[in-house]
Amino acid sequence: VHPLYAAMAPTIFEHMSALAREHGAINLGQGFPDEPPHPDMVAAAARALTEKSNQYPPAFGLPELCNAICGFYARRQGLALAPEQVIVTSGATEALAAALLALVASGDEVILFQPAYDSYAPVIRRIGGVPVSVALRPPHWRYDAADLAAAITPRTRVLMLNDPLNPAGTVASEAELAMIAETCVRYDLTAICDEVWEDVRFDGIAHRSLLSFPGMAERAVKIGSAGKIFGLTGWKTGWMCAAPALATALGRAHQFLTFTTPPALQWAVAEGLERPDDWFAAQRDGWAVSRRRLGDALDRAGFNVLPNAATWFLCIDLAASGVALSDREFSERAVREAGVASIPVSALFEGDGPRHILRLCFAKDGAVLDEAVERLARFR
Ligand code: PMP
Ligand code: GLN
Repeated sequence: VHPLYAAMAPTIFEHMSALAREHGAINLGQGFPDEPPHPDMVAAAARALTEKSNQYPPAFGLPELCNAICGFYARRQGLALAPEQVIVTSGATEALAAALLALVASGDEVILFQPAYDSYAPVIRRIGGVPVSVALRPPHWRYDAADLAAAITPRTRVLMLNDPLNPAGTVASEAELAMIAETCVRYDLTAICDEVWEDVRFDGIAHRSLLSFPGMAERAVKIGSAGKIFGLTGWKTGWMCAAPALATALGRAHQFLTFTTPPALQWAVAEGLERPDDWFAAQRDGWAVSRRRLGDALDRAGFNVLPNAATWFLCIDLAASGVALSDREFSERAVREAGVASIPVSALFEGDGPRHILRLCFAKDGAVLDEAVERLARFR
């Protein structure tokens, strides 16, 4: 066994969901909605399973889906992408791995902002790359130009940006994105833009892709996921978009990872992406109601809730809420003793990070959220 895996624990998401099952706890840990899938989406997948081909689709994705992804980004983000620039993957997790395989050689340094999604650093290390962290700090998790510049060396090749940011639930400002783009151009870096949360935004905030900034079209890989756009996390249908030469290299990595993705789900996602804006707005309004419900309940119970603009997550500052436990201790005990699973944000930091921030998923039924907060309030 490769030493990296011999020493590796299960992901924090798997760990907390297993504990939630074991203890019959309300699961506000791993991010997935409780509501039944939208009937339009399931009907489209069922129709595709019975009426369309169930054999290998093209390795880079069904042309219908590649077209739909381009149309979706043109309408909603003003991007001009051609279908040849899109590669469909088995979830964003595969896209992230394929992009790193295609872009990082042994000894190359990769800039990560922390907190970072947990798959980034292990994949970078497995291919001989060196993750170099730039820490963001609560409660606003802002990007700092001096911190970023200090992390860059002659060996830096790639920068990873997750915007909107999981677990913080924040969105980078236009000025921050411009600063990051200028840095990529100045130091000749390729950006892997994990934008899976691009459509889970609130309060009328628009999504601006790093790929749309000057000089970035040729050096950005934009990653998306139907799991988040449609709240169907089990579908594991994602994609990556890049300039043609870059897309070809990404496709070479993808062809030997999964080669392709189940066609019925690709058909259903293609159909889904073509739905009108108000269909997506209705879905978002539903999530916004849950976001307010959890935020208000936490407020009333005296928890300090951090600002949120996106994702299905609210973070609470345990220290500012008068809780003496670390986020790890709190989450490990709360799942067993209070029956509520959560994610300690320190699990998404390596080295020196905050140890007092807890992430809670609000994409749940209102009564479930109320009950979870009552349990946490009694426990604290
Ligand atoms: N990146 C981020 C930031 C995520 O939050 C997630 C899913 N939680 C992924 C990637 C993986 O997406 P998928 O399920 O499509 O593989
Ligand atoms: N991305 C999901 C989250 O943040 C978890 C995905 C997983 O379990 N690997 O909760």
